[in-house]
Amino acid sequence: MAERIADRDIVRPFHLERAHLRGRFVRLEETVHYVLTAHAYPEPVSRLLAELLVLAGSFVGALKFTGTFSLQIRAEGPIRLMVVDVTNDGVMRGYASFDEDAVEGAAEAGPAALFGDAVLALTVDQRAAGGQMQQGIVRIDGRRPSDALLVYFRQSEQIPTAVRTAVGRDPLTGHWRAAGILVQAMPGDRREEEERREHWRRVMLFLQTVTEAELLGDGLSPDRVLFRLFHEEGVRVFDAVRITPGCSCDRERVRTMLRQFPPGELEGMRREDGSIDVTCQFCSRRYLFEAAAVDGLVAECSGSAR
Ligand SMILES: [Zn+2]
Repeated sequence: MAERIADRDIVRPFHLERAHLRGRFVRLEETVHYVLTAHAYPEPVSRLLAELLVLAGSFVGALKFTGTFSLQIRAEGPIRLMVVDVTNDGVMRGYASFDEDAVEGAAEAGPAALFGDAVLALTVDQRAAGGQMQQGIVRIDGRRPSDALLVYFRQSEQIPTAVRTAVGRDPLTGHWRAAGILVQAMPGDRREEEERREHWRRVMLFLQTVTEAELLGDGLSPDRVLFRLFHEEGVRVFDAVRITPGCSCDRERVRTMLRQFPPGELEGMRREDGSIDVTCQFCSRRYLFEAAAVDGLVAECSGSAR
């Protein structure tokens, strides 16, 4: 029996028992709003970043880790970087860095022109819990985030995967929201190749019929959408995982980050009055280090550099 949980900002894992497939339905509202309103992003950047949030959400609960999972697109086009990370507790944040004029010029041409040459990096960082950092990287030149993720699953994991995403504004509040369904083959499927293909083909046909409105949730819970789409495939849902927007930055972490710079570079970051002003790229929170505090940091850095 699936736990009852509000239908927004959740990941709902499910199985398609007859088809031997598993999947996740991700629906984000507050999280998308939080991430996109921390900065004034142009519309095409907002849409792509919202899509990346949904894709990162599809890993929550599917990957066992203690720490942070992140999806990162490093690109050479008008968009330089897009990062989303989520903790094992479902706390999610993200940001994009881009050249505003270049984005405006390339917006009409779509994601291919916005990203240009690019790589997608998937990282599981468990160092805070005494574990390791693992990373997989694939080239995704000119692909939108969901197509990029499919390249990763095909090349690195070799797991048949399909995904549908939708990004749009709530008609009442005007807030951004985003959603998606990811479907994947289960490991260890021993059925005949032909039977597997037949089920996969049917599920893909059903998946193609889902509308943006159904994904985004105009009055329909994720469970109702899943049942509508896949009832012939024996859909079974599991406990949902809640996603909460939030940023883990704090003054101490920023201080630790600053201490890693060579003293010369720290000096270069000082403003006229000798202070350093750091803005968190994720949440736009500001951290001001007064001149005396910066003197202390420079002294510590010079000390540790010896
Ligand atoms: Zn922050």
